[in-house]
Amino acid sequence: MALRYQHFITPTGTAEFPKVVRGEGVYIWDHTGRRLLDGSSGAVSVNIGHAHPRVLEAMREQMNKIIYAHSMRWDNDPSQALAERLARLSGWDFEAAFFVSGGSEANEAAIKFARQVAVARGQASRYKIISRVPSYHGATTALLGITGDTDYAKAYKPMFVDMPKIDAPLLYRRPAHESVDDVIDRCVRQLEDTIIAQGPETVLAFMIEPVGGVSTGALMSPVDYYDRCRQICDRYGVLMIYDEIMSGAGRTGRFLAAHHWPDCRPDIVTLAKGVSGSYAPLGAVLASSAMVNDVRLSGGFKHGHTYSANPLGCAASNMVLQVLEDEALMPRATLLGERIRTRLEDLKSRTRVIGDIRGIGLHMAVEIVVDKDTKAIFTDEVRASEKIGLLCREYGLLLFSRRTAGAAYGEWLMFCPPLTISDAEVEEMLAAFEKGVFAFQNSVCS
Ligand code: PLP
Repeated sequence: MALRYQHFITPTGTAEFPKVVRGEGVYIWDHTGRRLLDGSSGAVSVNIGHAHPRVLEAMREQMNKIIYAHSMRWDNDPSQALAERLARLSGWDFEAAFFVSGGSEANEAAIKFARQVAVARGQASRYKIISRVPSYHGATTALLGITGDTDYAKAYKPMFVDMPKIDAPLLYRRPAHESVDDVIDRCVRQLEDTIIAQGPETVLAFMIEPVGGVSTGALMSPVDYYDRCRQICDRYGVLMIYDEIMSGAGRTGRFLAAHHWPDCRPDIVTLAKGVSGSYAPLGAVLASSAMVNDVRLSGGFKHGHTYSANPLGCAASNMVLQVLEDEALMPRATLLGERIRTRLEDLKSRTRVIGDIRGIGLHMAVEIVVDKDTKAIFTDEVRASEKIGLLCREYGLLLFSRRTAGAAYGEWLMFCPPLTISDAEVEEMLAAFEKGVFAFQNSVCS
């Protein structure tokens, strides 16, 4: 029996997990032969859909050459090509990429790299990473101290260093007395106050998801927020790390979500998920040559994994990103995102349970409430977002639902289909979602 102990509630509400058998394009098939539209791209990661023939071919070709060679002893063409491609797509001064096997590994590598940069530059007192609540940065022990979800980290509390946290600008759930500007002011002020209170000479970095992932339901901020955070970080010599594990690789309509707010340039960016479209486990840390050279001259980056920069994963990722450009999927994400938002806004006006629609490109979330005026959420027993997910599944649509920290910040479903989704499939997705939402509403509202 395969060991599974993470979740006791299965996505279908049955005792057994359904088995996945096949995937093609935006669809996956289960063991009963049922076809489902993958509306959240798996874990918001299957960015160009399943079984893309060009990626499968590129992987086969690479497998015929070599699948693995230890990156501490060998260089390889696919990883060099991928580093060059990421430098071109990311622009700015991200000339260097360090490859790992996923999102948590990328963030773990990023904070260790930032620490080595500080040490190399004579700032060994800097080690604290300020982050936001709520947020998700990964599952490793060090990242539990940075991830802003106390519920998720609680059991491991004695095992990690709890890093300083500030509020994420939750605009939809702002207190009644605060305007949008007030929220931004408060959150930006908190960043500066926290740096000062901690002692600026101890603060290494500020880590954020520029467009929130599942933990916030695609949280967005006005441009002012990013620019002011950048100014504060510059004032105190604090690095900015953008966790683009979910928002990166074209999902928001630009290669990096950071590109939407170009006056705020992060120092380090992490990518995973969509960067390889889930065809292989792969993550990357992007940094400037200047930082990499400082670390190199101080003895090199003391970090690595067996599968770092493996040729097969890099070959898959190269072709995923080639497809992203050849099929013009980034402008398509922008176009479809706007179309879907308009349709969801219309649905929102016709239902009682959709409170907010957030996000950009094909990185969107729909927040569920029991009362649109008060923004109150359903009680725990209802498990509203999960239930809507189950109902949508009945209508052939898979959606990732989330209640971060027991729905302390609300609950939502991620609307993040593969960027390759066709117009007809968008219609199918919206129709199934509408049926699921109304079925839920009819079952709970009198
Ligand atoms: N950071 C963000 C924003 C994420 O969404 C995730 C995963 O969902 C991670 C980090 C961790 O990535 P992984 O699950 O690949 O370790």
